[in-house]
Amino acid sequence: MSQAQLIDGKAAAAGLLETVRQDVAQLRAAGVTATLAVVLVGDDPASHVYVRNKVLRANEVGIRSIEHRLPADTAQDTLLSLIGTLNADRGVNGILVQMPLPAQIDEGAVIDAIAPEKDVDGFHRENVGRLVLGEPALTPCTPSGCLFLLEQTLGDLSGKHAVVIGRSNIVGKPMASLLLQANCSVTVLHSHSVGARELCRQADIVVAAVGRAQMVDASWIKPGATVIDVGINRIEIDDKTRLVGDTEFESVSRVAGAITPVPGGVGPMTIGFLMKNTVLAARRQSRQ
Ligand code: NDP
Repeated sequence: MSQAQLIDGKAAAAGLLETVRQDVAQLRAAGVTATLAVVLVGDDPASHVYVRNKVLRANEVGIRSIEHRLPADTAQDTLLSLIGTLNADRGVNGILVQMPLPAQIDEGAVIDAIAPEKDVDGFHRENVGRLVLGEPALTPCTPSGCLFLLEQTLGDLSGKHAVVIGRSNIVGKPMASLLLQANCSVTVLHSHSVGARELCRQADIVVAAVGRAQMVDASWIKPGATVIDVGINRIEIDDKTRLVGDTEFESVSRVAGAITPVPGGVGPMTIGFLMKNTVLAARRQSRQ
């Protein structure tokens, strides 16, 4: 039985970061230092790892990064006041507040407080609205990375039937908007969908963003379909922790035409697009 083409997110992200590095150098030559402010509140170990990786990657491509680490008991007003300062600082082009935030802070209020032109996560309602309207926007990094991989693999996506499994604000919904923008016919599945497997089996493109380990097996996939697995799930096998996606990689890769691995698929693209958005924000703010 044939094996699906492996979509290499690491290689794609390396290529993307190389173009970002060139853009950063161009901006610098024009007197603009692309700058990303990263705000981390509390002690969540995973968040610390994410922030460290983002700062490392920024430094690698020449983006200046500024870290703000606040204690876990930080009051919402203190965080909002920091965001206000960063919004007003012309030397800061992008603001990233690492989620999740401690329980005393309303994440929605924090996202709303970030100036839309500095919202490199693409979560602010103005950017969400612009994306849905098909206007220029800073778009969320993970679905943007998925679209990049799909276009690199398939070329023009016009007319393809895409099924997005999951409808979160950070992945599923913006993914559906981006695919619609790319002229796909889009079906969005969620926990109330009836006949999800049958609907999914009609798709040329499947984007799985559910957060359920290996939920999508080969019986969900049309032969030859392209599968993008966004899921990051930790499971225990033989006393070892393994990272797996939302698809059952072994069986799906025997049916699909192409598939992203976990890890090494969508993950690296997310950081790549954060850097790309920072450069885009810097360019727009300096009109370069
Ligand atoms: P959420 O938990 O916010 O959303 C999950 C979605 O899946 C919901 O819309 C939910 O439906 C839907 N869902 C749950 N069960 C089913 C089911 N049985 N059938 C169909 N749909 C279902 O997750 P996220 O979108 O934030 O993340 C999804 C996955 O992607 C996670 O594993 C996360 O770790 C990973 N992720 C990876 C990133 C990366 O960089 N690679 C970045 C962000 C996330 P409903 O709305 O009805 O509840």
